[in-house]
Amino acid sequence: MTEMMWDVVIVGAGPIGGRCASLLSERGHSVLLLEEHSEIGRPFQCAGLVNPRAMKSVSLEDTILQEIDGALIHGPSGTLVPVGESNNPRTFVVCRKRFDQGVVQQSLEAGAHIWLNSMPIDASADDDGVSLTVNNDGEIVDLKCKLLLGCDGAQSWTRRYFKMGKPKELMIGFQAEVVGYQNDNRWLEMYSGSKVAPGFFAWVIPSGFGTHRIGIWSTAEHLQGRSVEQCYHDLLNHPLWQERFSAVKETARYCGPIPCGMVKNPVKNRVMLVGDAAGMAKPTTGGGIGPGFKQIEMIIDDLSSAISSDKLSKKDLRKITSKRWNEMKRVQDKARALRDLLVSNCTDDELDEHFENFSKPEVLELINTIGDIEKPVPLGMALLKKVPAFRKLAVKAGVKLLFT
Ligand SMILES: Cc1cc2nc3c(=O)[nH]c(=O)nc-3n(C[C@H](O)[C@H](O)[C@H](O)COP(=O)(O)OP(=O)(O)OC[C@H]3O[C@@H](n4cnc5c(N)ncnc54)[C@H](O)[C@@H]3O)c2cc1C
Repeated sequence: MTEMMWDVVIVGAGPIGGRCASLLSERGHSVLLLEEHSEIGRPFQCAGLVNPRAMKSVSLEDTILQEIDGALIHGPSGTLVPVGESNNPRTFVVCRKRFDQGVVQQSLEAGAHIWLNSMPIDASADDDGVSLTVNNDGEIVDLKCKLLLGCDGAQSWTRRYFKMGKPKELMIGFQAEVVGYQNDNRWLEMYSGSKVAPGFFAWVIPSGFGTHRIGIWSTAEHLQGRSVEQCYHDLLNHPLWQERFSAVKETARYCGPIPCGMVKNPVKNRVMLVGDAAGMAKPTTGGGIGPGFKQIEMIIDDLSSAISSDKLSKKDLRKITSKRWNEMKRVQDKARALRDLLVSNCTDDELDEHFENFSKPEVLELINTIGDIEKPVPLGMALLKKVPAFRKLAVKAGVKLLFT
């Protein structure tokens, strides 16, 4: 093998590219990561929530800034629904820069190579492999590989170049890092209502050392001409909550897309998309790190065998991915349908009514017993089936949602 022939070239050294590189290198494959920036983990657009399962995969506990016990969820008129239990961490807030660097460092320790300031400019795939032309820090280099992995995020070059479809939804996320917000540092807060986060929610997440991340996500359709930044200002000045934001001072702000809904063709001949590139973020929370890790971990042994035997046609890759990724897609679709029903397609009055019902002791108990931010479908289904007030919604949702 010459230096320019690789088993796998991965476009994008974000958390998902780094994780793929580790898993493949650990299995003895030669892996090259291409990263367009000169540094890993910058710029980032993320609230930094990493679920316990994803954290366990990479054991990067030293990047945790804050453990989170639960969420205080506010209805449009102020009804509060607390979900969680004190001193029983449900998720973690990490320093995204150190987290991404940690994931990529693990891959380098496992044997992967990385080119910074590098991006593909041309590619073609045939039965012999993938031919790739790369701009490597100003120098044009030709490479060959058996498999090209597109882990290049929401606006994936790989996805566009190989015409692999579009994520079902592209949310707009906005976030500011602040000091001066007053709350309990082990609970995150979520705010709802058409003024502050039409169709979705705004968040305030403690990120350690007295800092917080205030963010909002929504879609162009729900925003109807407003910007997410306007929603952010409306949240800070909302009559119900402005007091707690009054001493807030910003230290940074950023905006980015969140792709939710697996693309139609996540694999083609010798090409595969993983993570945000494939549209894996969760329609209920926007979290993309956990689903991206899961997407690659569930196929890695079969993929490794296919690379070893160079069986990487579209048909081969579909055989490896179809069953497992279709199941992920099915759960993602169901979560979106439940989200639309209970939150996104509701007026503020309807949302207020839902919050009144959520806050009833027996419903809260159900939420706290079954509720798992990572697996919202069982809770959504239980609410529709067991809470009388939500049964009429179940009828509205119809058989398709409930029984597919
Ligand atoms: C405001 C906001 C808050 C969020 N909060 C959370 C959260 O709390 N928890 C969570 O799990 N998720 C969150 N997400 C989503 C999360 O950031 C993504 O799901 C996650 O980063 C996806 O990882 P990835 O590796 O697939 O893509 P990315 O992190 O986008 O990494 C892609 C990498 O590829 C590189 N790249 C792109 N194009 C090229 C190219 N052509 N050539 C070479 N390199 C390239 C990029 O520079 C980058 O390093 C949030 C998103 C936003 C916008």
